[in-house]
Amino acid sequence: MKEKLEGEGQTDRTDVAIIGGGAAGFFAAIACAAANPELKVAVYEKSSAFLSKVRISGGGRCNVTHRPLETRDFAARYPRGERSLLSLLHRFAPRDTLEWFEARGVRLKTEADGRVFPTTDSSQTIIDCLVDSARGAGVSLHAHHEARALERIQGGGFRVRFVSGKETVTRKLLLATGGVRSTSAAALAESSGHSLNDCVPSLFTLHLQESWLKQIAGTSVADAIISVPGMSLKERGPILATHWGLSGPAVLRLSAWGARKLHAVNYCFPACIQWLPNTSPEALEAAWKDRRERMGARTVMNCPLSPLPARLWEQLAIQAGFGRDDRWSKAPRGLLSRLTEQVLNSRITVMGKSLNKEEFVTCGGIQLDQINLRRMESRLVPGLHFAGELIDIDGITGGFNFQAAWTTGWIAGQSMAEEAHP
Ligand SMILES: Cc1cc2nc3c(=O)[nH]c(=O)nc-3n(C[C@H](O)[C@H](O)[C@H](O)COP(=O)(O)OP(=O)(O)OC[C@H]3O[C@@H](n4cnc5c(N)ncnc54)[C@H](O)[C@@H]3O)c2cc1C
Repeated sequence: MKEKLEGEGQTDRTDVAIIGGGAAGFFAAIACAAANPELKVAVYEKSSAFLSKVRISGGGRCNVTHRPLETRDFAARYPRGERSLLSLLHRFAPRDTLEWFEARGVRLKTEADGRVFPTTDSSQTIIDCLVDSARGAGVSLHAHHEARALERIQGGGFRVRFVSGKETVTRKLLLATGGVRSTSAAALAESSGHSLNDCVPSLFTLHLQESWLKQIAGTSVADAIISVPGMSLKERGPILATHWGLSGPAVLRLSAWGARKLHAVNYCFPACIQWLPNTSPEALEAAWKDRRERMGARTVMNCPLSPLPARLWEQLAIQAGFGRDDRWSKAPRGLLSRLTEQVLNSRITVMGKSLNKEEFVTCGGIQLDQINLRRMESRLVPGLHFAGELIDIDGITGGFNFQAAWTTGWIAGQSMAEEAHP
Protein backbone atom coordinates (compact mmCIF):
# COMPACT_ATOMS: atom_id res chain seq x y z
CA MET A 1 0.00 0.00 0.00
CA LYS A 2 1.23 3.52 -0.83
CA GLU A 3 2.59 5.26 2.26
CA LYS A 4 0.63 8.43 3.05
CA LEU A 5 2.69 11.60 2.69
CA GLU A 6 2.41 14.46 5.16
CA GLY A 7 -0.52 16.64 4.12
CA GLU A 8 -1.88 14.05 1.71
CA GLY A 9 -5.60 14.26 1.20
CA GLN A 10 -5.81 17.84 2.51
CA THR A 11 -7.42 20.30 0.09
CA ASP A 12 -7.16 24.10 0.49
CA ARG A 13 -9.51 26.40 -1.35
CA THR A 14 -8.44 29.80 -2.51
CA ASP A 15 -9.44 32.40 -5.09
CA VAL A 16 -5.94 33.09 -6.37
CA ALA A 17 -3.02 30.67 -6.03
CA ILE A 18 0.47 31.87 -6.83
CA ILE A 19 3.15 29.25 -7.39
CA GLY A 20 6.59 30.69 -6.61
CA GLY A 21 7.49 32.97 -3.71
CA GLY A 22 10.01 35.12 -5.54
CA ALA A 23 9.95 38.75 -6.68
CA ALA A 24 7.25 38.28 -9.34
CA GLY A 25 5.06 36.04 -7.16
CA PHE A 26 5.11 38.45 -4.20
CA PHE A 27 4.47 41.50 -6.34
CA ALA A 28 1.53 39.78 -8.03
CA ALA A 29 0.10 38.61 -4.71
CA ILE A 30 0.29 42.06 -3.13
CA ALA A 31 -1.15 43.80 -6.22
CA CYS A 32 -4.00 41.29 -6.40
CA ALA A 33 -4.90 41.38 -2.70
CA ALA A 34 -4.65 45.18 -2.57
CA ALA A 35 -6.85 45.60 -5.65
CA ASN A 36 -9.53 43.25 -4.33
CA PRO A 37 -9.29 42.72 -0.54
CA GLU A 38 -12.18 40.24 -0.60
CA LEU A 39 -10.09 37.67 -2.46
CA LYS A 40 -8.29 34.83 -0.73
CA VAL A 41 -4.78 35.05 -2.18
CA ALA A 42 -2.09 32.45 -1.36
CA VAL A 43 1.59 32.14 -2.30
CA TYR A 44 3.13 28.64 -2.42
CA GLU A 45 6.92 28.38 -2.34
CA LYS A 46 8.82 25.13 -2.68
CA SER A 47 11.78 26.01 -0.47
CA SER A 48 11.92 26.96 3.18
CA ALA A 49 12.61 30.63 2.45
CA PHE A 50 10.70 33.18 0.41
CA LEU A 51 12.50 35.64 -1.87
CA SER A 52 15.83 33.83 -1.71
CA LYS A 53 17.06 35.37 -4.97
CA VAL A 54 16.21 38.83 -3.72
CA ARG A 55 18.41 38.05 -0.72
CA ILE A 56 21.51 37.27 -2.81
CA SER A 57 20.80 39.84 -5.50
CA GLY A 58 23.06 42.77 -6.23
CA GLY A 59 25.81 41.32 -4.01
CA GLY A 60 23.38 41.31 -1.05
CA ARG A 61 22.27 44.90 -1.72
CA CYS A 62 19.40 44.17 -4.19
CA ASN A 63 19.55 46.30 -7.31
CA VAL A 64 15.80 46.95 -7.32
CA THR A 65 15.50 48.66 -10.68
CA HIS A 66 17.31 51.10 -12.94
CA ARG A 67 17.01 54.88 -13.10
CA PRO A 68 13.81 55.68 -15.03
CA LEU A 69 14.66 56.29 -18.67
CA GLU A 70 12.47 57.05 -21.62
CA THR A 71 10.42 53.83 -21.98
CA ARG A 72 11.88 52.91 -25.36
CA ASP A 73 15.45 53.29 -23.99
CA PHE A 74 14.55 51.19 -20.96
CA ALA A 75 13.05 48.39 -23.07
CA ALA A 76 16.16 48.40 -25.28
CA ARG A 77 18.05 46.88 -22.31
CA TYR A 78 16.26 43.54 -22.81
CA PRO A 79 17.94 41.16 -25.28
CA ARG A 80 14.74 39.06 -25.23
CA GLY A 81 11.24 40.56 -25.02
CA GLU A 82 12.04 44.19 -25.79
CA ARG A 83 8.93 44.86 -27.89
CA SER A 84 6.56 43.11 -25.52
CA LEU A 85 7.98 44.90 -22.51
CA LEU A 86 7.52 48.26 -24.16
CA SER A 87 3.74 48.02 -23.77
CA LEU A 88 4.02 46.50 -20.29
CA LEU A 89 6.31 49.26 -19.03
CA HIS A 90 3.66 51.81 -19.97
CA ARG A 91 1.43 50.12 -17.37
CA PHE A 92 4.00 49.68 -14.57
CA ALA A 93 7.20 51.63 -15.14
CA PRO A 94 10.47 51.93 -13.16
CA ARG A 95 9.06 55.19 -11.76
CA ASP A 96 6.12 53.20 -10.38
CA THR A 97 8.58 50.78 -8.75
CA LEU A 98 10.32 53.66 -7.00
CA GLU A 99 6.99 55.07 -5.80
CA TRP A 100 5.74 51.63 -4.75
CA PHE A 101 8.70 50.96 -2.45
CA GLU A 102 8.95 54.53 -1.18
CA ALA A 103 5.23 54.54 -0.32
CA ARG A 104 5.97 51.55 1.91
CA GLY A 105 8.81 53.28 3.72
CA VAL A 106 11.80 51.98 1.71
CA ARG A 107 14.24 54.76 0.94
CA LEU A 108 16.05 54.25 -2.36
CA LYS A 109 19.17 55.75 -3.90
CA THR A 110 20.34 55.88 -7.50
CA GLU A 111 24.05 55.28 -8.11
CA ALA A 112 26.06 57.07 -10.79
CA ASP A 113 25.58 54.24 -13.30
CA GLY A 114 21.78 54.32 -12.88
CA ARG A 115 21.37 51.29 -10.60
CA VAL A 116 18.83 51.75 -7.79
CA PHE A 117 19.40 50.23 -4.33
CA PRO A 118 17.82 50.63 -0.89
CA THR A 119 19.76 53.24 1.10
CA THR A 120 20.43 50.53 3.70
CA ASP A 121 22.48 48.64 1.06
CA SER A 122 20.76 45.51 2.32
CA SER A 123 18.43 43.22 0.37
CA GLN A 124 16.77 42.38 3.71
CA THR A 125 15.06 45.80 3.51
CA ILE A 126 13.34 44.74 0.28
CA ILE A 127 12.47 41.29 1.66
CA ASP A 128 10.97 42.80 4.82
CA CYS A 129 8.96 45.26 2.73
CA LEU A 130 7.56 42.56 0.44
CA VAL A 131 6.77 40.10 3.24
CA ASP A 132 5.17 42.80 5.47
CA SER A 133 3.16 44.17 2.52
CA ALA A 134 1.93 40.70 1.60
CA ARG A 135 0.93 39.88 5.18
CA GLY A 136 -0.62 43.35 5.56
CA ALA A 137 -2.73 42.76 2.45
CA GLY A 138 -3.95 39.45 3.88
CA VAL A 139 -1.95 37.16 1.55
CA SER A 140 -1.32 33.73 3.07
CA LEU A 141 2.25 32.51 2.65
CA HIS A 142 3.09 28.80 2.44
CA ALA A 143 6.71 27.68 2.41
CA HIS A 144 7.69 24.02 1.77
CA HIS A 145 4.98 23.73 -0.91
CA GLU A 146 6.44 22.45 -4.15
CA ALA A 147 3.79 22.28 -6.86
CA ARG A 148 4.09 19.03 -8.74
CA ALA A 149 1.07 18.98 -11.06
CA LEU A 150 -1.69 21.24 -12.34
CA GLU A 151 -5.11 20.16 -13.45
CA ARG A 152 -7.98 22.13 -14.97
CA ILE A 153 -11.31 21.70 -13.26
CA GLN A 154 -14.36 21.35 -15.48
CA GLY A 155 -16.42 24.49 -15.28
CA GLY A 156 -13.41 26.65 -14.37
CA GLY A 157 -10.56 26.81 -11.95
CA PHE A 158 -7.56 24.62 -11.21
CA ARG A 159 -6.36 21.95 -8.87
CA VAL A 160 -2.69 22.22 -7.85
CA ARG A 161 -1.06 19.13 -6.40
CA PHE A 162 1.96 19.54 -4.16
CA VAL A 163 4.80 17.11 -3.60
CA SER A 164 3.57 16.63 0.00
CA GLY A 165 0.33 15.20 -1.33
CA LYS A 166 -1.65 18.28 -0.35
CA GLU A 167 -3.87 20.02 -2.94
CA THR A 168 -5.23 23.47 -3.57
CA VAL A 169 -8.31 24.28 -5.58
CA THR A 170 -8.28 27.80 -6.99
CA ARG A 171 -10.16 30.02 -9.43
CA LYS A 172 -7.08 31.82 -10.78
CA LEU A 173 -3.56 30.49 -10.97
CA LEU A 174 -0.27 32.28 -11.49
CA LEU A 175 2.96 30.50 -12.34
CA ALA A 176 5.89 32.60 -11.17
CA THR A 177 8.43 29.84 -10.72
CA GLY A 178 11.45 31.75 -12.06
CA GLY A 179 14.05 30.91 -14.70
CA VAL A 180 13.82 27.45 -16.19
CA ARG A 181 17.15 25.65 -15.93
CA SER A 182 16.07 22.02 -15.76
CA THR A 183 13.57 19.75 -17.41
CA SER A 184 11.70 19.34 -14.11
CA ALA A 185 11.34 23.12 -13.82
CA ALA A 186 9.98 23.27 -17.36
CA ALA A 187 7.59 20.38 -16.75
CA LEU A 188 5.01 22.36 -14.77
CA ALA A 189 4.66 25.05 -17.44
CA GLU A 190 4.74 22.52 -20.26
CA SER A 191 2.13 20.31 -18.58
CA SER A 192 -0.35 23.15 -19.09
CA GLY A 193 0.22 22.89 -22.85
CA HIS A 194 2.62 25.81 -23.24
CA SER A 195 5.85 25.81 -25.22
CA LEU A 196 9.09 27.23 -23.95
CA ASN A 197 11.74 28.82 -26.10
CA ASP A 198 15.01 26.98 -25.44
CA CYS A 199 16.43 28.03 -22.10
CA VAL A 200 20.13 28.85 -21.89
CA PRO A 201 22.10 30.88 -19.33
CA SER A 202 22.55 34.62 -19.61
CA LEU A 203 24.67 37.03 -17.56
CA PHE A 204 27.65 34.79 -16.95
CA THR A 205 31.37 35.38 -16.58
CA LEU A 206 34.04 33.94 -18.89
CA HIS A 207 36.72 31.32 -18.30
CA LEU A 208 39.92 31.96 -20.22
CA GLN A 209 42.59 29.71 -21.60
CA GLU A 210 45.28 32.34 -20.96
CA SER A 211 46.75 32.39 -17.48
CA TRP A 212 48.21 35.92 -17.62
CA LEU A 213 44.88 37.63 -16.92
CA LYS A 214 44.15 35.24 -14.06
CA GLN A 215 47.45 36.26 -12.50
CA ILE A 216 46.13 39.80 -12.06
CA ALA A 217 42.79 38.74 -10.54
CA GLY A 218 41.09 41.68 -8.88
CA THR A 219 42.42 44.22 -11.39
CA SER A 220 39.72 46.20 -13.17
CA VAL A 221 39.61 48.69 -16.02
CA ALA A 222 36.77 51.21 -15.92
CA ASP A 223 36.36 51.64 -19.66
CA ALA A 224 37.33 48.88 -22.09
CA ILE A 225 35.74 47.12 -25.06
CA ILE A 226 35.31 43.37 -25.37
CA SER A 227 34.26 41.95 -28.74
CA VAL A 228 33.78 38.58 -30.40
CA PRO A 229 34.93 38.54 -34.02
CA GLY A 230 32.39 37.09 -36.44
CA MET A 231 29.49 37.25 -33.97
CA SER A 232 28.70 40.99 -34.03
CA LEU A 233 29.10 41.10 -30.27
CA LYS A 234 30.76 44.15 -28.76
CA GLU A 235 30.32 45.74 -25.32
CA ARG A 236 31.99 48.68 -23.67
CA GLY A 237 32.33 49.34 -19.94
CA PRO A 238 34.14 48.07 -16.84
CA ILE A 239 36.04 44.76 -17.18
CA LEU A 240 37.39 42.82 -14.19
CA ALA A 241 40.10 40.14 -14.22
CA THR A 242 39.17 37.19 -11.98
CA HIS A 243 40.80 33.97 -10.80
CA TRP A 244 39.07 32.14 -13.64
CA GLY A 245 39.04 34.78 -16.38
CA LEU A 246 36.90 37.84 -16.92
CA SER A 247 33.86 39.47 -15.34
CA GLY A 248 32.47 42.99 -14.94
CA PRO A 249 29.49 44.79 -16.52
CA ALA A 250 30.85 44.77 -20.12
CA VAL A 251 31.44 41.00 -19.96
CA LEU A 252 28.02 40.30 -18.41
CA ARG A 253 26.28 42.42 -21.06
CA LEU A 254 28.17 40.59 -23.81
CA SER A 255 26.96 37.29 -22.35
CA ALA A 256 23.37 38.55 -22.31
CA TRP A 257 23.30 39.78 -25.91
CA GLY A 258 25.22 36.71 -27.07
CA ALA A 259 23.48 34.14 -24.83
CA ARG A 260 22.29 31.94 -27.70
CA LYS A 261 25.28 32.42 -30.02
CA LEU A 262 27.78 31.67 -27.26
CA HIS A 263 25.78 28.62 -26.16
CA ALA A 264 25.90 27.34 -29.76
CA VAL A 265 29.73 27.30 -29.66
CA ASN A 266 29.73 25.69 -26.21
CA TYR A 267 31.27 28.85 -24.73
CA CYS A 268 34.58 28.30 -26.60
CA PHE A 269 35.46 31.23 -28.82
CA PRO A 270 38.17 33.83 -29.52
CA ALA A 271 37.60 37.38 -28.25
CA CYS A 272 39.45 40.72 -28.29
CA ILE A 273 39.87 43.40 -25.68
CA GLN A 274 40.55 47.04 -26.40
CA TRP A 275 41.95 48.26 -23.10
CA LEU A 276 42.02 51.94 -24.14
CA PRO A 277 39.01 52.52 -26.42
CA ASN A 278 39.67 56.24 -26.89
CA THR A 279 43.25 55.78 -28.07
CA SER A 280 44.42 55.26 -31.67
CA PRO A 281 47.50 53.29 -32.83
CA GLU A 282 49.04 56.63 -33.92
CA ALA A 283 48.60 58.10 -30.44
CA LEU A 284 50.31 55.05 -28.93
CA GLU A 285 53.21 55.24 -31.43
CA ALA A 286 53.65 58.90 -30.40
CA ALA A 287 53.56 57.91 -26.71
CA TRP A 288 56.25 55.26 -27.26
CA LYS A 289 58.43 57.79 -29.13
CA ASP A 290 58.05 60.29 -26.31
CA ARG A 291 59.09 57.67 -23.75
CA ARG A 292 62.13 56.65 -25.74
CA GLU A 293 63.24 60.27 -25.82
CA ARG A 294 62.35 61.38 -22.30
CA MET A 295 62.49 58.17 -20.21
CA GLY A 296 64.99 56.10 -22.13
CA ALA A 297 66.76 54.83 -19.01
CA ARG A 298 63.59 53.52 -17.35
CA THR A 299 62.25 50.02 -17.87
CA VAL A 300 59.15 49.55 -19.99
CA MET A 301 57.44 47.61 -17.23
CA ASN A 302 57.92 50.35 -14.68
CA CYS A 303 56.23 53.01 -16.79
CA PRO A 304 52.53 52.11 -17.01
CA LEU A 305 50.43 53.93 -19.52
CA SER A 306 47.74 55.86 -17.68
CA PRO A 307 44.96 54.97 -16.90
CA LEU A 308 45.90 51.28 -17.21
CA PRO A 309 46.56 49.62 -13.83
CA ALA A 310 50.26 48.82 -13.27
CA ARG A 311 49.63 45.04 -12.96
CA LEU A 312 47.77 44.93 -16.26
CA TRP A 313 50.41 47.06 -17.99
CA GLU A 314 53.14 44.72 -16.82
CA GLN A 315 51.26 41.70 -18.23
CA LEU A 316 50.59 43.47 -21.54
CA ALA A 317 54.31 44.26 -21.82
CA ILE A 318 55.21 40.63 -21.08
CA GLN A 319 52.69 39.43 -23.71
CA ALA A 320 54.29 41.82 -26.20
CA GLY A 321 57.64 40.15 -25.54
CA PHE A 322 59.39 42.58 -23.18
CA GLY A 323 61.68 41.34 -20.40
CA ARG A 324 61.72 42.85 -16.90
CA ASP A 325 64.96 44.80 -17.55
CA ASP A 326 64.18 46.09 -21.05
CA ARG A 327 64.49 49.88 -21.24
CA TRP A 328 62.62 52.32 -23.43
CA SER A 329 65.80 53.53 -25.10
CA LYS A 330 66.52 50.04 -26.46
CA ALA A 331 62.94 48.93 -27.09
CA PRO A 332 62.86 47.26 -30.53
CA ARG A 333 60.27 48.62 -32.96
CA GLY A 334 58.80 45.16 -33.46
CA LEU A 335 58.06 44.79 -29.74
CA LEU A 336 56.58 48.30 -29.57
CA SER A 337 54.18 47.42 -32.40
CA ARG A 338 53.21 44.30 -30.46
CA LEU A 339 52.66 46.45 -27.37
CA THR A 340 50.33 48.67 -29.41
CA GLU A 341 48.48 45.54 -30.50
CA GLN A 342 48.21 44.29 -26.91
CA VAL A 343 46.77 47.59 -25.67
CA LEU A 344 44.31 48.02 -28.52
CA ASN A 345 43.53 44.45 -29.49
CA SER A 346 44.48 41.82 -26.87
CA ARG A 347 43.45 38.44 -28.20
CA ILE A 348 42.07 35.98 -25.70
CA THR A 349 40.52 32.51 -25.90
CA VAL A 350 37.36 31.82 -23.95
CA MET A 351 37.11 28.19 -22.81
CA GLY A 352 33.88 28.12 -20.84
CA LYS A 353 31.65 30.14 -18.57
CA SER A 354 30.95 30.51 -14.88
CA LEU A 355 29.37 27.76 -12.84
CA ASN A 356 25.61 27.41 -12.82
CA LYS A 357 25.19 29.07 -9.44
CA GLU A 358 26.89 32.23 -10.66
CA GLU A 359 24.61 32.69 -13.66
CA PHE A 360 22.24 35.50 -13.06
CA VAL A 361 19.31 34.91 -15.30
CA THR A 362 17.76 32.54 -17.84
CA CYS A 363 17.40 33.40 -21.52
CA GLY A 364 14.27 31.69 -22.85
CA GLY A 365 11.01 30.64 -21.26
CA ILE A 366 7.31 30.59 -22.08
CA GLN A 367 6.77 31.89 -25.59
CA LEU A 368 5.34 35.37 -25.57
CA ASP A 369 2.84 34.70 -28.35
CA GLN A 370 1.10 32.26 -25.99
CA ILE A 371 0.47 35.02 -23.45
CA ASN A 372 -2.09 37.80 -23.57
CA LEU A 373 0.28 40.47 -22.30
CA ARG A 374 -2.50 42.89 -21.41
CA ARG A 375 -3.46 40.48 -18.60
CA MET A 376 -0.35 38.27 -18.44
CA GLU A 377 -2.82 35.44 -19.01
CA SER A 378 -2.40 32.33 -21.14
CA ARG A 379 -4.02 32.45 -24.56
CA LEU A 380 -4.42 28.68 -24.32
CA VAL A 381 -5.75 28.21 -20.79
CA PRO A 382 -8.05 30.96 -19.49
CA GLY A 383 -7.43 31.76 -15.84
CA LEU A 384 -3.78 30.70 -15.93
CA HIS A 385 -1.34 33.60 -15.64
CA PHE A 386 2.44 33.94 -15.89
CA ALA A 387 4.98 36.43 -14.51
CA GLY A 388 8.69 36.93 -13.97
CA GLU A 389 11.68 35.09 -15.32
CA LEU A 390 9.59 32.07 -16.35
CA ILE A 391 8.52 33.94 -19.48
CA ASP A 392 10.78 34.69 -22.42
CA ILE A 393 11.89 38.14 -21.27
CA ASP A 394 15.30 38.88 -19.79
CA GLY A 395 17.42 41.96 -19.37
CA ILE A 396 21.03 42.97 -18.97
CA THR A 397 22.46 43.67 -15.50
CA GLY A 398 21.54 46.85 -13.68
CA GLY A 399 18.11 46.18 -12.13
CA PHE A 400 16.34 45.32 -15.41
CA ASN A 401 15.45 41.76 -14.44
CA PHE A 402 13.74 42.75 -11.22
CA GLN A 403 11.90 45.48 -13.11
CA ALA A 404 10.54 42.82 -15.48
CA ALA A 405 9.45 40.78 -12.44
CA TRP A 406 7.72 43.79 -10.78
CA THR A 407 6.03 44.86 -14.02
CA THR A 408 4.75 41.44 -15.12
CA GLY A 409 3.84 40.50 -11.53
CA TRP A 410 1.87 43.70 -10.98
CA ILE A 411 -0.07 43.33 -14.24
CA ALA A 412 -0.84 39.67 -13.53
CA GLY A 413 -1.99 40.57 -9.99
CA GLN A 414 -4.29 43.37 -11.19
CA SER A 415 -5.75 41.18 -13.87
CA MET A 416 -6.45 38.26 -11.51
CA ALA A 417 -8.09 40.69 -9.04
CA GLU A 418 -10.50 41.88 -11.73
CA GLU A 419 -11.46 38.41 -12.85
CA ALA A 420 -11.48 36.32 -9.67
CA HIS A 421 -14.59 37.71 -7.96
CA PRO A 422 -15.52 35.39 -5.12
C1 LIG B 1 23.10 35.91 -7.85
C2 LIG B 1 22.00 36.70 -8.52
C3 LIG B 1 21.96 38.08 -8.35
C4 LIG B 1 20.97 38.83 -9.01
N1 LIG B 1 20.94 40.18 -8.82
C5 LIG B 1 19.99 40.92 -9.44
C6 LIG B 1 19.89 42.32 -9.20
O1 LIG B 1 20.58 42.88 -8.35
N2 LIG B 1 18.96 43.03 -9.92
C7 LIG B 1 18.11 42.42 -10.83
O2 LIG B 1 17.31 43.12 -11.47
N3 LIG B 1 18.15 41.08 -11.01
C8 LIG B 1 19.05 40.32 -10.33
N4 LIG B 1 19.06 38.97 -10.51
C9 LIG B 1 18.00 38.35 -11.32
C10 LIG B 1 16.71 38.30 -10.48
O3 LIG B 1 17.03 37.75 -9.21
C11 LIG B 1 15.65 37.43 -11.15
O4 LIG B 1 15.44 37.86 -12.47
C12 LIG B 1 14.33 37.52 -10.35
O5 LIG B 1 14.54 37.00 -9.06
C13 LIG B 1 13.21 36.76 -11.05
O6 LIG B 1 12.09 36.75 -10.21
P1 LIG B 1 11.03 35.56 -10.28
O7 LIG B 1 10.06 35.81 -9.18
O8 LIG B 1 10.53 35.43 -11.65
O9 LIG B 1 11.87 34.25 -10.00
P2 LIG B 1 12.60 33.79 -8.66
O10 LIG B 1 13.10 34.94 -7.89
O11 LIG B 1 13.58 32.75 -9.09
O12 LIG B 1 11.44 33.11 -7.80
C14 LIG B 1 10.81 31.92 -8.22
C15 LIG B 1 10.43 31.13 -6.98
O13 LIG B 1 9.63 30.02 -7.36
C16 LIG B 1 9.97 28.92 -6.56
N5 LIG B 1 9.54 27.71 -7.26
C17 LIG B 1 10.09 27.15 -8.39
N6 LIG B 1 9.40 26.03 -8.74
C18 LIG B 1 8.42 25.90 -7.81
C19 LIG B 1 7.40 24.93 -7.63
N7 LIG B 1 7.26 23.89 -8.45
N8 LIG B 1 6.54 25.07 -6.58
C20 LIG B 1 6.66 26.13 -5.73
N9 LIG B 1 7.64 27.06 -5.84
C21 LIG B 1 8.49 26.95 -6.87
C22 LIG B 1 11.48 29.06 -6.40
O14 LIG B 1 11.95 28.32 -5.28
C23 LIG B 1 11.64 30.57 -6.25
O15 LIG B 1 11.59 30.98 -4.90
C24 LIG B 1 20.02 38.19 -9.84
C25 LIG B 1 20.05 36.80 -9.97
C26 LIG B 1 21.02 36.06 -9.32
C27 LIG B 1 21.02 34.56 -9.47
